[in-house]
Amino acid sequence: MPNDFDVIIIGSGAGGGTIAYTLADTGKRILILEQGTFLPREKRNWDPAFIFGEDGYKADINWEGPDGENIRPIVYYNVGGNTKMYGALLHRQRPEDFEKQQHRGGVSPEWPIKYDEYEPYYMMAEHVMKIHGNRGEDPTEGWYSGPFPFKAFPHERRIQEVADNLERMGLHPHHSNLALNRDMEEPWRRPCIACNTCDPFPCMVHAKSDAETALVRPALKHENVTLWTGSRVEKLIEENGKITRVEGTRDGEPMSLSADLVVVSCGAIQTAALLLRSRVANSSDQVGRNFTKHNQSGISAMDYSNPNPTIFQKTLGVHDFYHGSPEHPYPLGTIQLTGKAHWTRIMGDYASQGIDEQRAREVQQYAVDFWFTSEDLPDANNRIEWTDKGIKFNYRPNNRESHFEFLDYFQENYLKPQGFTDFMRSTKGLEFTWHQAGTAQFGTDPKKSVLDVNCKAWDVDNLYVVDASFQPSQGATNPTLTVVANAIRVGEHLRKDWFASDGVSVEDYPLSDPYMADSAGAQVLAPTYKAGDDESWGA
Ligand SMILES: Cc1cc2nc3c(=O)[nH]c(=O)nc-3n(C[C@H](O)[C@H](O)[C@H](O)COP(=O)(O)OP(=O)(O)OC[C@H]3O[C@@H](n4cnc5c(N)ncnc54)[C@H](O)[C@@H]3O)c2cc1C
Ligand code: SF4
Repeated sequence: MPNDFDVIIIGSGAGGGTIAYTLADTGKRILILEQGTFLPREKRNWDPAFIFGEDGYKADINWEGPDGENIRPIVYYNVGGNTKMYGALLHRQRPEDFEKQQHRGGVSPEWPIKYDEYEPYYMMAEHVMKIHGNRGEDPTEGWYSGPFPFKAFPHERRIQEVADNLERMGLHPHHSNLALNRDMEEPWRRPCIACNTCDPFPCMVHAKSDAETALVRPALKHENVTLWTGSRVEKLIEENGKITRVEGTRDGEPMSLSADLVVVSCGAIQTAALLLRSRVANSSDQVGRNFTKHNQSGISAMDYSNPNPTIFQKTLGVHDFYHGSPEHPYPLGTIQLTGKAHWTRIMGDYASQGIDEQRAREVQQYAVDFWFTSEDLPDANNRIEWTDKGIKFNYRPNNRESHFEFLDYFQENYLKPQGFTDFMRSTKGLEFTWHQAGTAQFGTDPKKSVLDVNCKAWDVDNLYVVDASFQPSQGATNPTLTVVANAIRVGEHLRKDWFASDGVSVEDYPLSDPYMADSAGAQVLAPTYKAGDDESWGA
């Protein structure tokens, strides 16, 4: 009897959306199962009081922490997954991140595949996510086979001042790499309005290149691709080395389906939970282990002689200390700006410091909001477990000394000398699982890894995993571009090896915007974008 579908994809975030997009034109019967629904477009998408004060759109779930404590993670379960709320700052990993690296707190392992092999897939990922940026500004970026598709977002006045000051002090501030669908020269052509409610808000006008707008909706234009929302997978049934049933509920009713190929992309934590409760793909005992999520802190820096009226703040990055500093012979990490923090967010960020509304409003008026990301290191004891109570989030941060040195170093040597006199600092706790990765690593040894280099489970012939679970480490770069690039790579393998179809190239990931242009009926006005064509950039 034929299976219900050729491919079932579980999860509609960055990994699942990319696989759907990459396989869509094969004509195969593809079903995407997503436990959430579409996130509504509504005014409160951009209401800070709703997002920060009421935990707007956050999943209503609890996990057990490493010491038995209750954790309410910041995760979002809807079409597009966590990317609906993400900051859309998308980096390639640095070439060194694919090699073994000594950190102050231990070792970051080597990857089985290196930057050179990923490069063409990063190009395709940058196209489909419509990245804005300027090549050559960031001293740590790897080699590239083409320009960024779109010019970088310019700095507003106060941020340009900060960039100029940092440059005078010998650093190389760069313009952020942003996945937003804006036309810089003719802003009426594309939907992004460069507003102050982007990070971490959903985009009311669907101008953020998230997994829904850039990947899932374009994939759904193909009649052979179907999305079922409200469809939660509880269990994968394995028989003779194959997944034969995908079981769960659809709108609360039992659901049992079959497919030739099953692709799991539930996010690193939920993917581990699904594999563990299904008791599949775990002969190595590695499922759930080596969980990483980055060390992350914010510094709100105030210069009371210089208010910060910036609207779209997320335009500046500093990577000079990615591999260390003259005083630190080990990697430190990245510095970015966050979206301009509203006082309601500031109240949450500094709640443990007893901040009141008046002070939060003052911080909003003056602060430039810096965000620091450093690598945490894979450790087999940092693991997601599945118990009779649900997920046990057994994670303890590591490699933190260098993270805190990084904050002190930048504050003393680069913020104070340019006039910032007051600082508020917060380090993100266990509930910040935004950059979750590493729970089903790929590798070359079935005894030490869960997936082979094509991200197929070693133990199961028709099971693939394409979210951030596959990552042996995640450098200090934001993870999503690597998830998208890797899923394109896996998608190409599936096209060729499973469907005897052709490979993919950058032309398959165009810069045009089928979703928004079509819904606006604006094809007539839409220009033709060609990579590398200076005249057409941002036109
Ligand atoms: C506030 C915030 C800001 C961020 N900012 C950035 C940024 O600026 N840059 C960056 O690179 N990254 C950022 N990230 C991280 C980024 O969102 C993730 O890297 C990305 O979403 C990972 O994609 P994924 O496919 O692995 O999983 P997800 O996006 O988590 O998608 C998984 C999907 O699977 C569904 N699912 C889970 N279990 C099941 C099940 N059993 N059955 C059916 N469906 C299921 C979920 O509902 C979800 O929709 C941010 C994240 C957050 C939360
Ligand atoms: S309009 Fe642009 S800046 Fe505003 S939320 Fe949407 S993508 Fe972000």
